Amino acid sequence: MLNLRKACILTIAILLIFTSGCSLTAPQKSDSIHLILGNPSNAATDDDNNYLIIKKQYALSYNRHKGIPNWVSWQLNKSWLGNAPRSNNFRPDDTLPQEWYRVVPNDYTRSGYDKGHMTPSADRSNNPEDNAATFLMTNIIPQAPDNNQGYWAELESYTRTLANAGKEIYIIAGGYGQQGTIGKEKVAVPERVFKIIVVSEPGKNVDDINESTRVIAVDTPNYNGNKESHWSQYLTTVDELEKKTGYDFLNYVNTSVQKVIEAKVDNTVNLRKR
Ligand code: MN
Ligand code: MN
Repeated sequence: MLNLRKACILTIAILLIFTSGCSLTAPQKSDSIHLILGNPSNAATDDDNNYLIIKKQYALSYNRHKGIPNWVSWQLNKSWLGNAPRSNNFRPDDTLPQEWYRVVPNDYTRSGYDKGHMTPSADRSNNPEDNAATFLMTNIIPQAPDNNQGYWAELESYTRTLANAGKEIYIIAGGYGQQGTIGKEKVAVPERVFKIIVVSEPGKNVDDINESTRVIAVDTPNYNGNKESHWSQYLTTVDELEKKTGYDFLNYVNTSVQKVIEAKVDNTVNLRKR
């Protein structure tokens, strides 16, 4: 009897140690609406170059060494869209740790690169405060004008069309690779700019993402010279982007579902020239 009780206590103790050990190593899920499908690089606040910043309007992994986000993630649906004007108030992000250099708009001046929004200004037009948040320099990367003002802008606008049609969308965008720096070497210029767009329905959560959920993935060159191309020419798979960036996108989505939706190239929009 005593032995049985001891055995029981021992078993419970082992279980407790085991489960608490598990919860320590499991990815820390965030309450942010912008991260419900994942935190692709497991960004956290103890890593300067994979530094998690959560705002009401979007969430991101900041790279202190590069002076740009690794990725920015945001939800888009009708509720974020309205008539607020474009603030154009580009400014340093003072939520960064005090001793860090904070990139300023001037670092981009005469660089040949646009101050390229990851979360677009027009995706946050519900009120002036949300719009102004997109002009923080932690949401900005140096983007080639032909990319930013051409097919990239068209894809942004296409995504808003889906939101206006009632879809709930989760977007992750960022750059990878490096082709030099601007702003006296304080800001890295990525070679490629990627975006992943998951098209869901209002009121759905991560467990509702399934094998037939539409996923649009693009991998675009951060160079001038191809302004007339269409974004659908840059379609790829999430799997390819994972190989190139080393991130695990959509990592809170069921693994077997990830396997299917990350291997597909979106074919809803036909290749076309402008
Ligand atoms: Mn832009
Ligand atoms: Mn994945």
